[in-house]
Amino acid sequence: MIKVPDIFQNKNKTYSFELFPPKTEKGYTNLMVTIKNLAGLKPDFISCTYGAGGGNRDKTFDIVQHIQDKYAIASVAHLTCVLNTRDQIKSILNDIQSRNITNILALRGDPPLDNPDWTPGPDNFQYTHELCRFARELYGEAFGIGVAGFPEGHILCPDRDQDARYLKIKLDHGADYVITQFFYNNHDYFEYIDRLRSLGIKARIIPGILPITNFDGLLRFSSGCGTTITDDVKKLFEPTKDDPRITLQKGIDFAVQQCQELLAGGAPGLHFYCLNKLHPVDAILPAVRI
Ligand SMILES: Cc1cc2nc3c(=O)[nH]c(=O)nc-3n(C[C@H](O)[C@H](O)[C@H](O)COP(=O)(O)OP(=O)(O)OC[C@H]3O[C@@H](n4cnc5c(N)ncnc54)[C@H](O)[C@@H]3O)c2cc1C
Repeated sequence: MIKVPDIFQNKNKTYSFELFPPKTEKGYTNLMVTIKNLAGLKPDFISCTYGAGGGNRDKTFDIVQHIQDKYAIASVAHLTCVLNTRDQIKSILNDIQSRNITNILALRGDPPLDNPDWTPGPDNFQYTHELCRFARELYGEAFGIGVAGFPEGHILCPDRDQDARYLKIKLDHGADYVITQFFYNNHDYFEYIDRLRSLGIKARIIPGILPITNFDGLLRFSSGCGTTITDDVKKLFEPTKDDPRITLQKGIDFAVQQCQELLAGGAPGLHFYCLNKLHPVDAILPAVRI
């Protein structure tokens, strides 16, 4: 299957989706329907997250394989370092390769809730650049490698300049492109791009978009990952937060505006956090795709 960086050769902008492996059989069955419908929107690629600890690792790879095999759409397997030793990562990468998966999103991951104090030992990777280097050393160009970027700085590294330098290390160790954490102030993205370009980074930095569908849920989720909920967003969504229909419509309108501004400002595409749903991405993407 084509590697994501090879798609970039022919496309100035890519449109992609992110899914996660459901915990239940019913969720899995529903996801198969969602994938079919998302495939109809003709994304350039679809990625699937990987649970830290690896409990649903096979599901991630099954979903990625399904997307590739059934819909001939490039698909990206997220892969986290936490809890895995180098040997385990090697066996996972062998598994990935034997499934003809050619795209990974290399991540550190976070210690799982049931093992929050886990810290890396000598056989583990501490940071994502070590995983990038390991994959390149052992597998050459077999994989297209994406990594995560944080326009507001990673939650553990709020010094944005320092965090940008860490991103450069990931790219210098073999990563091809970047998908960002979601954000709601486009200035944060554009300033991030300036910061990265001033470090000599040329790779594509694809903005991650999380459409707002539930305001209280968003507040909880964003506090865990460090995304700022701007005053504009609060003013717009808070007064009607108990009306799901109005929230959904506002979320679509907000995302359309955010995406149009990003694309007009030079963003090389959009990566939507779909949360395993077709809607509202099916309303947003056709309105913004260029
Ligand atoms: C697009 C996207 C997809 C994601 N998918 C998943 C997923 O599928 N599964 C999952 O569990 N999590 C996922 N995450 C969350 C991610 O695992 C966490 O945000 C994690 O805390 C950081 O991962 P990272 O790869 O950016 O880590 P790193 O790049 O290793 O950074 C981790 C921390 O260390 C700092 N740092 C980085 N390099 C260095 C260095 N060389 N020296 C010192 N400090 C350094 C960084 O500033 C940061 O604070 C995703 C995040 C994004 C944005």
